[in-house]
Amino acid sequence: ERTVKEVLPALEVNKKGIKDVIEKLLEEYKKKETAFKEFQKKNGIQQTNSANIFGIDTAWVGAGLAVLRQGARRGAELARRQLLVSMEIPSKDKSYQWMLIWISQQNQINSRKLASMSQQTSWLQKSILKAAMPRQLAVETSFKQHDNGSVSTNFNLVPGQGKHIFNYKGRWIQIERLRETKMVDFTTGSPWETITMTTLSRDRDVFDDILTKAREFALAQQVGKTVLYTSFGPEWRPFGLPRKRRCLDSVILDDNVSQTILNDVHDFTRNGQWYDERGIPYRRGYLLYGPPGSGKTSFIQALAGELEYNICILNLSERGLTDDRLNHLLTVAPERSIMLLEDIDAAFTKERDQSEKAGYQQSMVTFSGLLNALDGVASSEERLIFMTTNHIERLDPALIRPGRVDMKVFLGNATPSQMRRMFTRFYPCDEQLAESFVDKIRDKSISTAHLQGHFVFYKHSAKAAVDNTDSLLTQNYKS
Ligand code: ADP
Repeated sequence: ERTVKEVLPALEVNKKGIKDVIEKLLEEYKKKETAFKEFQKKNGIQQTNSANIFGIDTAWVGAGLAVLRQGARRGAELARRQLLVSMEIPSKDKSYQWMLIWISQQNQINSRKLASMSQQTSWLQKSILKAAMPRQLAVETSFKQHDNGSVSTNFNLVPGQGKHIFNYKGRWIQIERLRETKMVDFTTGSPWETITMTTLSRDRDVFDDILTKAREFALAQQVGKTVLYTSFGPEWRPFGLPRKRRCLDSVILDDNVSQTILNDVHDFTRNGQWYDERGIPYRRGYLLYGPPGSGKTSFIQALAGELEYNICILNLSERGLTDDRLNHLLTVAPERSIMLLEDIDAAFTKERDQSEKAGYQQSMVTFSGLLNALDGVASSEERLIFMTTNHIERLDPALIRPGRVDMKVFLGNATPSQMRRMFTRFYPCDEQLAESFVDKIRDKSISTAHLQGHFVFYKHSAKAAVDNTDSLLTQNYKS
């Protein structure tokens, strides 16, 4: 009776069916009990109650047990629903990679803890820690490029598919990593995956804590670095590992050029409200033009480092890039990033038309599509756009009119001032030789990239760099 009154209403499932079975069971029981009591009375027997003695129909006992079993199962499910809380992270979410890295880091911490446990540590403690370590691991390889260009490889062991249990700050958490066999992420082609974390509902705040820690850990790897993004389908993806920031002083432009651009960018980023109040799209375009090797790309990288911005590289010649996708990409660009369109002249040239006629399909961006995307009607976010070209004369005037390109800066071959400053930067102890170096080449057309190559070749001797200016002009270097 108690079961019917208390447990069944809570379960709310098959209530009527189960109730009927139990009521019949009770009815049968009562009948047998009355019959037995009469029998006892008649024969003067004192006996304890027992179902076996009553001889209740075994079929009913079986049915009763089945009911109890079903009740227990549903009860467990109910308890699970009431007591546990889960969090699911799909592989498409940004935090997915953070979580994998964080879990593998927790795993390393646990292994270290286990290794450093002394003999005195109890067997139970060790076993608990061992049980908490994932049995099935997957490897994720990452490369690290050092400043000198060498690459070292790092293998990260992350939890593989299946269930893992671990302890975080005294709370037990189950992690299940699942790979869908039938579902694929269409933008990347990789199988759809999810991580589900489950813990007791009273510990639900632990999820917030873990997500924050995982994000902080991932972002700490990017501090002091510039992340380069490239378009991947409809979204932006980091390209390679974050790079060390390039210092603005290391790019030597003609007098005041660098500072003028920097001041203009600062003025733009500080005046969001001004644009907003006047209903002007909050965007600013810059065009750096001039011969190759004059430091256009390097300057943009250094500027991004100085502003603590990242760079989104947009390749207009990318296959399959359409007007819609271009517009979308400009709208969803990560915050605090510079949009970089390199060699903008190459995207719309006569050669391109010919290659299309020859059946070689390139990107499908139209010129008007590019202009619309640049105007950024759809975006109210701050947008810094940098374009570079070696041939400004090939650009359509519509592309570089004010509003699309607000500042045009010529970066040419090295001026005497640049020659002098580059020399002293490479040979700070031999400043007195700078003037004779500049005198020897002052009216020659030499790109700053060539100068850099020359100084790198004679890095151990400023005098050799001065004596051998001929090789700078002939490009003939012999060791
Ligand atoms: P661009 O984009 O104009 O073709 P890059 O920025 O790619 O030129 O420069 C090529 C190389 O030359 C880089 O390694 C860069 O460090 C060096 N370089 C070019 N110009 C300068 C400069 N003005 N100051 C310092 N380094 C420069």
